[in-house]
Amino acid sequence: MFLEKKDAILAYAMDPALVEIERKLDAGISLGMDDGLALLATNDLHNLGRLARAAKERKSGKSVYYVLNRYINSTNVCYANCTFCSFAVDEFKEEGRVFRMTADQVLEKALETGENFNQMHIVGGHDPRQLSLDYWLPLMRRFKERLPHVQLSFFTAAEIEYMAKRHRLSFAEIITTLKDAGLDNVNGGAAEIFAEETRKKICPNKVNAENWLAIHEELHRQGVASNATMLYGHIESHEDRIDHLIRLRDSQRRVPGFNAFIPLAYHPDGNELSYCGWTSGLDDIRIFATARLMLDNFDHIKAYWMIQGIKVCQVALQYGADDLDGTHGSTDEEMIYHAAGTQSGQYVDDREFRRLIEDAGYEPVRRNSTYDTFAADWTPELVHA
Ligand code: SF4
Repeated sequence: MFLEKKDAILAYAMDPALVEIERKLDAGISLGMDDGLALLATNDLHNLGRLARAAKERKSGKSVYYVLNRYINSTNVCYANCTFCSFAVDEFKEEGRVFRMTADQVLEKALETGENFNQMHIVGGHDPRQLSLDYWLPLMRRFKERLPHVQLSFFTAAEIEYMAKRHRLSFAEIITTLKDAGLDNVNGGAAEIFAEETRKKICPNKVNAENWLAIHEELHRQGVASNATMLYGHIESHEDRIDHLIRLRDSQRRVPGFNAFIPLAYHPDGNELSYCGWTSGLDDIRIFATARLMLDNFDHIKAYWMIQGIKVCQVALQYGADDLDGTHGSTDEEMIYHAAGTQSGQYVDDREFRRLIEDAGYEPVRRNSTYDTFAADWTPELVHA
């Protein structure tokens, strides 16, 4: 059959690999390893963006999401020794750098800028003196009592595995316990790269790929939402990246419950992999588009301004991303990416989010962790006036 003239011109101009990929997308066929590798390699950014944008708009129309949230790293003590990490501290060798918040300090910090936020995001190191149910369960209950409108987006699968081992509980048991105390959502960190050979080199001492996926699937079975991430731009191959995305897609098919995928760019300051250098803007953009096109059963792709920077993240909205993540609070002190050299600040005003989203041609929508939506000027009813 002859192509229409318009189609013929388009096909001629397109990277041939993208022509074949577009056929699969139009037919509703999930993309495979070779397709993913072609997406990561293409220089046809115009058509890459066109395909990713169409996939984004099939999922979330003209909406682009953000959340008013607070972000806390509760401790930097950790013994996992991931080679890409600039944040963790050995409390016996670097006493002066230890940062470990009491439960009262965490709650005080969360309330420093008022109560008008919808998500509390907390992650920290594998700290034997903090990462236990004795510390977290009472604190989670205090959060729920003090801030019932705030969803608790706590821990990663690595932290949940650590606590499960510590308390000799199965994944199902510890998740039920955390859920009963108010856990709404688990953060997507610690996924790094699933491919075993690479994972052994970058994070040999923390949750393995199989358990990371098993924990998230158990969360989903019990009705706790979660997100997924991938750390890219270090020693991983392009095959590792696509393998990672396919494993996430397969997991979502088995037990749905991931809300969003968040690509995390490796940052090189102050860690063992610093020779890998920074990711490029092109690599960042290709990752957003590739994730959007590979993960056809994920509703949202986040461009987290703290990681790739606010300008690249705004551009990512034209390459399949539909979320800028959270504002953080104006007194927050994110430590993980700042220790590794991010030039992003600590806070973005929600008016700036709305301006950037509208400037990209989309409609800003305020959400919470589980994507319930709110008017931009929504305020909570104060529990303690
Ligand atoms: S990445 Fe997390 S688990 Fe690994 S060393 Fe750093 S704080 Fe510990």
